[in-house]
Order: sequence, then C-alpha cells, then structure tokens
Amino acid sequence: MTERKRGYIDVDALQEELAEQGDVVERIAGFYGVETGQLHTTANETRMACQFACGKTEATGDRAISLKTRGDATLWRCFHYGCTVRGNVLTLMHWMKHDRPPAGDRLQGREFKEMAEDLKALVRGEPRTTKAESHNEPTSTKDTADKSAFNIPLKDSENERARSLVNLDEKFVTDVAEMSPQAASYVRSRPYMTPEIMQKFRCGYLPQDAGSLLRGHFVYGWADQHGDILTWFGRNLNYETQHRKWRRAGDSSKEPNKFKFVKGFHRGLVLYGENVFRSEANAEQVRDMGVIVVEGPNDVINLNALGVPAVAVCSNTVTEKQADKLAALACEFSNGTVSVMFDLDRQGENGAGQTVLKLAQRCCVRYAWTTSLSDGRFSDRQPESVTPEEWEKLIYTALTA
Ligand SMILES: [Zn+2]
Repeated sequence: MTERKRGYIDVDALQEELAEQGDVVERIAGFYGVETGQLHTTANETRMACQFACGKTEATGDRAISLKTRGDATLWRCFHYGCTVRGNVLTLMHWMKHDRPPAGDRLQGREFKEMAEDLKALVRGEPRTTKAESHNEPTSTKDTADKSAFNIPLKDSENERARSLVNLDEKFVTDVAEMSPQAASYVRSRPYMTPEIMQKFRCGYLPQDAGSLLRGHFVYGWADQHGDILTWFGRNLNYETQHRKWRRAGDSSKEPNKFKFVKGFHRGLVLYGENVFRSEANAEQVRDMGVIVVEGPNDVINLNALGVPAVAVCSNTVTEKQADKLAALACEFSNGTVSVMFDLDRQGENGAGQTVLKLAQRCCVRYAWTTSLSDGRFSDRQPESVTPEEWEKLIYTALTA
C-alpha cells in the first residue's frame, strides 16, 4: 500500500460522486462557462457535438460524442470520422477548460493535479480557483521531465560508435537518379530539396546498405547552434502508406511515426535549424518578420530556399526549453518577436494556440499566417508547400503590413 501524500485527492471517489450527482456534461460545461449545444441524454448515455478536435474544422452532428457512465467510471469518445478524441471525466474537463488535449495520452503531473483540484471543487459545488489558470501549460513531455537532460554533440560523445557518426552525411545520396524509388519520389515532390540545399542542411537519402539504424530513411542532421551535429534522425518513407492503413484500421493500433529518432536525444531542448538561422539571418530581416518558428525540418528548408530564416520545434507544440530559446533568439536578432507558422490543419492550429500562449509569457508573439489569409487559400497547408510567389505576394505582405 502506498502512503498517501499530503494534498492527495481521491480522484476515483470524486468521479464516482460526480456520476451519482448526475448531469455530468452540463455541470462540467457550467463550471467552465462553455456552451455544449444540444445534449441528448438517455438512461446510460449522453451524446453531444464535438467542439474539440474535429469540431474545429467543421461543425459536427450533435451526436458525435458519446459519453457513458458504467459502474464508477465515465468514459467518452468522439465517433466523427478521423477524430480520435476520447478519455475520462478529467480529459473532458481538460478539453472544456483549455480547448486542447492533455500533453500526453493521459493526464500526468501538473495537468493531472490541476484537473483533480477542479474536479474536487466541482463535486463540492465550490467555484473554481483562479490559481489553476496560471498552470495551463501542458506538463513536461519526456524531453523536459528530466531536468538534468542535455544533448552532447556527436564529436564529443564518450561513445565511440556515436563519434564515428559525425560524418554520416558522407554516405548520403543527394542525386534523385541514385535513390530508391520511394526516396526519389519523396524528393521530387519537394522541389526545394535540391542537392545544394541538402548539403547545406546535411540531409539526404541513406541507402539500405549503409549499415545504420537509419538506413533506407531520408536522414536529417540536427546541429546545435554552433553547427555541430547532435543527432541524425530519419523520415520514414513508408509513413504515408502506413498511416493510411492505420487510419483504415481504426485507432486501436499504435499510430506510425513520421520520424525516427535515436534514443537518448532530447529534441525538446533544441531548435532545428538554429545554426543556419544564426549564420544567415540578418537583424533587419528578422525585425521585419520576427523569428519564424515552424513545425518540421522541411518547413525550415523550404523557407530557407525562399530566403526566409526559420527554426523548427519538430513537433506541433513547443516545450518550455524551446520557448526560452525562441524568446532569446528573438531578443538577440530583433525587437523580440516570434512569428508562429505551424501547419494550418487541425493539429497545427491547436498546437499553435498553445505555443502562442507559452511564448506570450516570454516575448512578443504573433501568427505568421492563419487559415483566413487570402480567403482560406492556405487552409490545410504547411510552410513546406509555400511557393515563392505565395510568400512574396501574400504571406510576407500580410506579415509585414
Ligand atoms: Zn471529434
């Protein structure tokens, strides 16, 4: 039996009590002042529209989400096609309060504590404390959980094998004619991915016979701010096929990963492309546009090809450490503004919202683009697909207006 810590909240008992009190959805919505639209409640189920993930892009039917209480547990999920939002009472509360999912698969750490305190107040009929609102950052992912975590450049590693990988890019293929069909099609569909820019960003196709964990991947080097490689990471060239298969199968199996990272690398501590940004960006340009932060390496590379300096978080959310680094970069290169340019899809927009909040605590921040720009022309787009004309005539103009 574990010892109960001071301040321990018996969440199971509270959930049970809430279910007994009834009107679970109405009461959570009332607690946070959120409109739910019409609820359809029968003896054992409540159905409602999804105003969460899928409801952001289009209104869902008013029965998309099903919430059921069985025994002492209340569970819910959205049945709208493609929406994977689901959880328990605490997750529902988190969505209603913050309008975004918890940081991990389940609530942990500070997020858990915050929602547990809200649940206690709700069950006891107390108003919610305002204190919790300042805690609305997702808890640390693995990257930041370990306060002592850091990344060592491969060249300084104690591990001989790691040191031997410093020049892995000597094995990269940058000529599409010599790539596997999948790699060639990956590169051909990205016109900015020229041999010259591959060399600059130290990325390319690593052939199957390269004798590395990343063989058969399109591999990127992640350098520190000085340009020393911290790690190599690979783009899974079967991702699109695997992901389609995964979606068809429902959400029971594990979602395939787009990128393969080496164990022990803490990507939440660094910004991708910072070295190139530092060597190429000039203060006047950055003052104009702010420090542009994007999701992925290809976004950085395409923008660089357009003459636009940018860095990536390699995620669709930002960690505390990355937010600190972005704010520092913004102060160093401009008047302290970061421009968030995440993908204009559902997940990107959710992540951008969270990122803006986190950066606003540190520096000036704005959206570099939104779905409403140019009558929705950029809806569902990623920075890696922006053409020179689009950048010049539409995005840059709006950004610096
Ligand atoms: Zn949904």
